Amino acid sequence: RWVFMNGKYVKQTEASVSIFDHGFLYGDGVFEGIRVYEGNVFRLKEHLERLYESARSILLEIPYPIGELEKYVLETVQRNRLTNAYIRLVVSRGVGELCLDPSKCSDPQVIIIADQVKMFPKEMYDKGLKVVTVPTRRNIPDALNPKIKSLNYLNNVLVKIEANQAGVGEALMLNSDGYVAEGSGDNIFIIKRGRLYTPPCYVGALDGITRQAIMDLCKRLGYQVIEEPFTRHDVFVADECFLTGTAAEVIAVVDVDGRKIGDGQPGPITRHLLQEFRKLVTVDGSK
Ligand code: PLP
Repeated sequence: RWVFMNGKYVKQTEASVSIFDHGFLYGDGVFEGIRVYEGNVFRLKEHLERLYESARSILLEIPYPIGELEKYVLETVQRNRLTNAYIRLVVSRGVGELCLDPSKCSDPQVIIIADQVKMFPKEMYDKGLKVVTVPTRRNIPDALNPKIKSLNYLNNVLVKIEANQAGVGEALMLNSDGYVAEGSGDNIFIIKRGRLYTPPCYVGALDGITRQAIMDLCKRLGYQVIEEPFTRHDVFVADECFLTGTAAEVIAVVDVDGRKIGDGQPGPITRHLLQEFRKLVTVDGSK
């Protein structure tokens, strides 16, 4: 495999970053996870815009114009001859001193990795996912804005550990007010009486590209989506629930904290949206 590193393509086994990189020392950086379906990079422009906005928000200057980075992403995929893949795009603050101050970090590191996709097992898509809510809380806008996809993923990592400990595939984070925010790496939707609800980003959710794709799809298919805070109770009594994410795509949730959602099977609207989403990713490409 070839990895893009700061303007060069190097072998994966030879690609390395310094132990003095502030991305490593402090999680100081931003990233994106992007999918390639049948050779089409899904919504690349949106991912790049989010990356540049995340970087701008933390005063990290990406050393290429967005169009140039777009070409590097496409070239990384091509060089690895991948038609279905997962791309990890990382920009870290770069090498600096052993102190928090990034002012002496002169060279941000830009890395693009293209690899195989790791999704939930197929049976979880067919049968739906069991999830739990966990004590770890989501950052809210008065802390690190949840719209920033930064390398600070410690609460998401803890959520994943808590999901593993509970023996389930994924867990949900609440915010400090008790509203449901999102999963460790995916956004949440619930469905009640034919309407979809998803938390607004200010509750503590990433502005997910898949979330937006689903909202666009719902508009086209005539489903109403309401962005509104909701609680665990609203999830427990929902007719359907599903998660969205670049890696997860659309996956039904059938059990939350031991409460069956609906009849405990992936619901009809969720299945319809998954079907339409799968059509969209192969024809829509990077549009
Ligand atoms: N929420 C978090 C915390 C994430 O890391 C991700 C993954 O990128 C998502 C939601 C889903 O966003 P997207 O659909 O852009 O992958």
